[in-house]
This record gives sequence, C-alpha cells and structure tokens, in this order.
Amino acid sequence: MKKYDYLIVGSGLFGSVFAHEAAKRGKRCLVIDKRPHAGGNIYCGRKEGINIHQYGAHIFHTNDKSIWEYVNSFVEFNRYTNSPIAFYKNEVYNMPFNMNTFFQLWGVKTPREAKEIIRKQIDSLDIKEPANLEEQALSLVGVDIYEKLIKGYTEKQWGRPATQLPAFIIKRLPVRLTYDNNYFTDRYQGIPIGGYNKLTEGLLKGIELQLGVDYFEHRKQFDALANYTVFTGKIDQYYHYRYGQLQYRSLRFEHQTLDTDNYQGNAVVNYTEAEVPYTRIIEHKHFEFGTQPKTVITKEYPEEWTANKEPYYPINDERNNTIFKKYKALADKETDVIFGGRLAEYKYYDMHQIIGSALKKVSGHFDAPVLQTCSNF
Ligand code: FAD
Repeated sequence: MKKYDYLIVGSGLFGSVFAHEAAKRGKRCLVIDKRPHAGGNIYCGRKEGINIHQYGAHIFHTNDKSIWEYVNSFVEFNRYTNSPIAFYKNEVYNMPFNMNTFFQLWGVKTPREAKEIIRKQIDSLDIKEPANLEEQALSLVGVDIYEKLIKGYTEKQWGRPATQLPAFIIKRLPVRLTYDNNYFTDRYQGIPIGGYNKLTEGLLKGIELQLGVDYFEHRKQFDALANYTVFTGKIDQYYHYRYGQLQYRSLRFEHQTLDTDNYQGNAVVNYTEAEVPYTRIIEHKHFEFGTQPKTVITKEYPEEWTANKEPYYPINDERNNTIFKKYKALADKETDVIFGGRLAEYKYYDMHQIIGSALKKVSGHFDAPVLQTCSNF
C-alpha cells in the first residue's frame, strides 16, 4: 500500500482547498511546495506588525454566498472595500470610472452630462471596427478617459504600445453613472482578519506539508508515494515542454518600509502615466485599517517573463492557447493525476474562482457534491 492517497503539488489556494477536502474525507495527504512557505500567491509576509501581500495585492470578492461562508469558516473577513485611486501626472482620480471621476475630469455633476461628453467623444472618432486595443478602448470610453486612465497603465502592463495589442484584451470598460467608488460589484468582499496565512493555515491544519521541495527534482520518489497526484504547477513543465513553453507576464515587487504612519492614504494607488515605471503602489496596512507607527509600501513593476522569473499572468493569445490545448489533451487522458489551479489550467483565476474550481474537482473526484451552490463554474 502506498503511504499517501494524495500527493498535492503546490500549497496555493487550489492545492490547500483540495487537501483540506480530501483530508476531511479521511484521505492521507502530503502537500509539497517548492517555496519556503505555504499559500502560493496569497502568502503574506510580515513587517512592522503589518501583513504584506508578498505577491501582489489580494482582495477577496465573490457573489457566491457558499464560497464566502466557506472562507469565513476558516478566518473571519473584514469590511475592506476596494476603492483604488489613480494618479495621472499631478491629477487624482477615483476608480473605477464613475461620477466622481467624471466630476474630476470635466466638472460635470449629473449622469446626463457625463454620458453626453463620453458619447460626443466616441462619436467624433467614428471607429467602426476596432483594429487594436487602443481603438477598442477609445470606442468604448472616448479620448479623455483613455488617454489619462487607460493608455499608459495598459502599455506598462503589457510592455507594448496599445496599438500593437489585440482588441480582445479589453472586452468591456464599464462606465458607472453613480457616485460609487467600490471597484467590485460582488456582494461580498474583504480581507482575512490577520492576513491570508490564517486561511492557508486553517485549510492545511493537520495535513503533512513539506516546504522548499521541487516536485521535478524528486519526481520518481514522489510519484511512488501516493495513489493520486494533484498537480498545481506549470502544465508545460509537467510534460517536459514537449509542445513548447507557455508564456507569461511577470511582475517585480519592490517593498519599502517607511518611517511614516500613512504614506498614500489608500491601499491601492494606480500610476496611469507611461513615464512612471511602476503601475501601482500598494500600502498594505490600509487593507486591515492598520494603525502601526510605520508603513510598508510595494511598487509593482510589470516585466517580461523568463524561465527564472515568477509566471504571474498567462498570455492567452492564439499561440499559447494552441499549445495549451495540446497539453490539456494529454492531461485529460491521465487517470491518476488531477490538474488544477492557475498554472496547470493556464488561466487567470480570482481566488473565489480557484476555490470554486477546487471544490468542483473534489466533488467530481469523490462523487459527493461539496457545495451545491457553486454556480460560477
Ligand atoms: P498559486 O498560488 O500560484 O499556487 C501554486 C503553488 O504551487 C505555488 O506555491 C508554487 O510554489 C507551487 N509549485 C509550482 N510548481 C511546483 C513544483 N514543481 N514543485 C512544488 N511546488 C510547486 N485574486 C483575487 O481574487 N483578488 C485579487 O485581488 C487578486 N490579485 C492578484 C494579484 C496578482 C498580482 C496576481 C498574480 C493574482 C491575483 N489574484 C487575485 C489571483 C490569485 O492569486 C489566484 O487566484 C490564486 O492565488 C491561485 O492559486 P493557485 O493555487 O492556483 O496558484
């Protein structure tokens, strides 16, 4: 008999939820991770008594009551509401685009006036079929919003001029004709009180965990240990890159401790002009209404991805999607390997989606539905 029922490669949200649900059903699980900590990208470091979102700002939001109750059963969430600010040159704007933004842009106070300005700007451009991202954005929101709040930010994110980016990247640009700075429209949102590690710790409680071990360095030994493998790493690597490498965008995070109690007055400030090299500054204490005497900020720099960097955002263009489909066809044939999570599915997922997808895979695997109301998947 093998020592474990499940070897779970990756202790991110997908692996942790899967491990928790399997252990709850009496299965013997071993979770491994190549990083020195559990939690994957939701991991929080700690400095000056402040939880630091080490791999980028993470704000939990969902419309699904069962998922909200699921996460709250491990750790209580606070009432944080994401209301980012955008700095463009010397100007300050509320995000997402709403009546506050339109007042700041044009001094207009009514939805009718704002709608009229946007409509006139769009009409004057007369773009019938947007050929690239720039034209797509212009045809949705007009020139002022595009130039000040979209262009520079998007070009930094993708490392290319907006005229060289495909139109499909931006499908919708919601224009909100109310004075509402709440970025998300979901019914539930917040940050775990005490940070995301509490969620990971709750999920992995009582489960064997080995950190700092790369599955690929000891693949044979690990495969021999368990009946099933749950793999949440890169799917192309799993198959030795036989169809080629999948591409990503990466990020570099520059963390700084500052001797002030409040640096920018908001957790998330976007820098939308091209001349500033980072896309945003995160001031972590504001996620948890912190009152510590010092503060920690993180500047986020988008970067080209190379094999030695963290793969953050999949580039779901035609080339990569075609390659991914080939890997997926191999994965679909596996009988004792379950692939899940953002790297194995080569897809950007929000946290609530990852949880929903892990619960769905678990319930499919063990035959008993775990959450009847996971509707997003
Ligand atoms: P991961 O968290 O990446 O976990 C995978 C784990 O597998 C990692 O720990 C990795 O070390 C390990 N691993 C990989 N290969 C191996 C190997 N060979 N051997 C051993 N271990 C291995 N979602 C939201 O809902 N709200 C947000 O505000 C939000 N902000 C985000 C900001 C950024 C910058 C990014 C990149 C993502 C954001 N997300 C957000 C998405 C969120 O991070 C993901 O939904 C979630 O973390 C994905 O979990 P996962 O388990 O699939 O992957």
